[in-house]
Amino acid sequence: MSISHIIGMPRIGENREIKFAIESFWNKKYNENDLKYIFNKICLKNWNLQSYYNISYITVGDFCLYDHVLNMLTILGAIPTRFNFNTKNINYKKYFQMARGNKNNKPMEMTKWFNTNYHYLVPEWTKNIKFKNGKYNWLLNNIRKAKSIYKNIKVTIIGPLTLLYLGKKKGNLKNKLFLLKKIINGYKILLLKIKKEGINIIQIEEPILTLKLKKEWLIAFKKVYKEFKKININILLVTYFEELKNYNLIKKLPIYGIHIDIINNNFKNIGKFLNIWSNKKIISIGIINGRNIWKTNIIKKILKLKKLSIKYKNNLWISSSCSFLHIPLNLKNEFLIDNEIKKWLSFAKQKIKEIKYISDFLKNNIKLSNKYIYKNLISINNKKKSFKNKNKLVEKEFKIIKKKKYNRFSSFKNRKKKQFKKYNLPIFPTTLIGSFPQTKEIRNLRFLFKNKKINYLNYLNKIRNEIKLNINLQEKLNLDVLVHGEPERNDMVEYFGEQLWGFEFTSNGWVQSYGTRCVKPPIIYGDIYRPNSITKNISKFSQSLTLKPVKGMLTGPITMIKWSFTRNDQKIKYTAIQMSIALKKEVYDLKKNGIKIIQIDEPAFKEGLPIKKRERKKYLKIAVKCFKISCGNIEDEIQIHTHMCYSKFNNILKYISKMNADVITIETSRSNMNILNNFKKFKYSNDIGPGIYDIHSPKIPNIIDIVKLIKKTYKVINYKKIWINPDCGLKTRNWKETIESLKNMVIACKIIRKNL
Ligand code: GLN
Ligand code: ZN
Repeated sequence: MSISHIIGMPRIGENREIKFAIESFWNKKYNENDLKYIFNKICLKNWNLQSYYNISYITVGDFCLYDHVLNMLTILGAIPTRFNFNTKNINYKKYFQMARGNKNNKPMEMTKWFNTNYHYLVPEWTKNIKFKNGKYNWLLNNIRKAKSIYKNIKVTIIGPLTLLYLGKKKGNLKNKLFLLKKIINGYKILLLKIKKEGINIIQIEEPILTLKLKKEWLIAFKKVYKEFKKININILLVTYFEELKNYNLIKKLPIYGIHIDIINNNFKNIGKFLNIWSNKKIISIGIINGRNIWKTNIIKKILKLKKLSIKYKNNLWISSSCSFLHIPLNLKNEFLIDNEIKKWLSFAKQKIKEIKYISDFLKNNIKLSNKYIYKNLISINNKKKSFKNKNKLVEKEFKIIKKKKYNRFSSFKNRKKKQFKKYNLPIFPTTLIGSFPQTKEIRNLRFLFKNKKINYLNYLNKIRNEIKLNINLQEKLNLDVLVHGEPERNDMVEYFGEQLWGFEFTSNGWVQSYGTRCVKPPIIYGDIYRPNSITKNISKFSQSLTLKPVKGMLTGPITMIKWSFTRNDQKIKYTAIQMSIALKKEVYDLKKNGIKIIQIDEPAFKEGLPIKKRERKKYLKIAVKCFKISCGNIEDEIQIHTHMCYSKFNNILKYISKMNADVITIETSRSNMNILNNFKKFKYSNDIGPGIYDIHSPKIPNIIDIVKLIKKTYKVINYKKIWINPDCGLKTRNWKETIESLKNMVIACKIIRKNL
């Protein structure tokens, strides 16, 4: 007998219902009850799906409206003290205020959930934080609802140590573990309440067990789980994303079972663990990849599990490596994907079915000759044999590229002299990151064109008009290096992917990035090849409108890869190099057509950094190499910019400097310019454009504040190296906010230039 279960489901609904419902709530079109209604509907759908496929345990508690970390804090009563909310009275309005800020408070900080593209809200650990009087009913009501329908339920929560670890120390709290006693007690209250609902299995997610932990954290684990043992509830400890570590600790914990992500573990490692893991305890094997969208080779997985099913018998559980939060919900909603490629894919719903069949087989309910398993084998083999994913031209280019070095021809100092003379730039040159407001009209225009409701010429004219307005505005504002505003782009990855071979697109494959923000990652299924120029015409047109330089605007290789689903039949490194070669051709094309300044955005550069320390160097080296392949080998006069969103650059500056971009624009408002200290410490030599206002907020920055911030910059970095720009692109802002903010930015900059 083998038990099947899942770790968690996507939360946005099949048609992003949650996103629209929450946004309607923000716009006051929905009230709290309307939102609750949608909440319940989606939970029910997710549960039904699991029940439909006979999954042994229905997972409850994985659902939330904005973020699972903020939810956990709210349920425990451990919300940031600075909001001054009485946790008992938290309602959705206040919940969203913590995520988005209110009159008196900045929003909670957001950061990446391990190595995924999901962003969670960072807990704020102050000395006087309480884990009391939580909003327990948010979870308990959900449990009650599920219990009224289904028999076997497993509740999931984030573990106390992961929660503690991921938070940020605030005020004079010296060590997060000073809060240990409090958090244990808080969780114990919650666990008791869950138990009272008749639940006897609880999934506690502690992904930090895959990190190298300091001794004090290992001791804390022992303490926590010893205490939880007293509640007398079966604990399935869940780990994911990385190789399991801390074996000896885990072995000794008084828990019911452990879940391991075997997709991101090598078998040798797992073997070692299983040698010490008793067959009297549950072992849950995450054998279905929860992070990508490729069909599972069922027979291969079954063979891998056979031996385990003999050793663990009833104690073997089958699951996905991690929550399905990171993949789209249902492949059945896709109508545009090439038919052949569609057969290679599997989204959350299809993966639940895979779990069912594997576990059915292990239960001896079905044979290998089963029709589903047979069909699965055929599509796996077809993919291997297909010509769709291979391209001889790419293979040839790849061989040539590998040997060269791709360094700029002369030093930054020389390049800078030539560039500044040529473009006649002032000190503190002003620029923008790329996008202008993506209004409803622009979105609609692209929609009409995509759906063939307007013809190409008509569309092109309208886009050109938009660009004209953007350029005129920037001239009026007196900016120095202009952008065209990206009205033709729906998304910085999709736009390029659509014009390259090797990419496929879903029509509804949404994945939550944070809160209500969802992305539709492209699927890289084959060799990447650039059949035609991508941005040449638009860039040429934009440049023809002004005497000031207009930046060519490209998305960097790492970002293209990181924000897509990548191939499972080739090393990511090769895919990244293929992407860089395509970009390289684009850069040459722009240069040939008179574009002098080219920006290659790499917001995902830091995001791609592996969790494992020993893998980081390798990654960084490849990432730098890719950037250099794209634009390293180019004349001194061409100024290369790169842009990165919020990243704590501490240890990676060495590599960023090897990228040797002439200018790097970065998001700094969230760190209040502190990030610049690292650049100083490192003696970073090239130019920097630290963002001088936060584009995530509708607030218009006032002149005095901007002046203060700029002053802060040249206290740290030589003023001759500073550029003035916002934190990031302006696509999420409206026009009024944009114009007023930019006006203030330019005035502030002029004040600085005069008074230096
Ligand atoms: N050029 C892009 C823009 O301005 C950069 C976006 C990003 O950094 N994520 O929108
Ligand atoms: Zn950015």
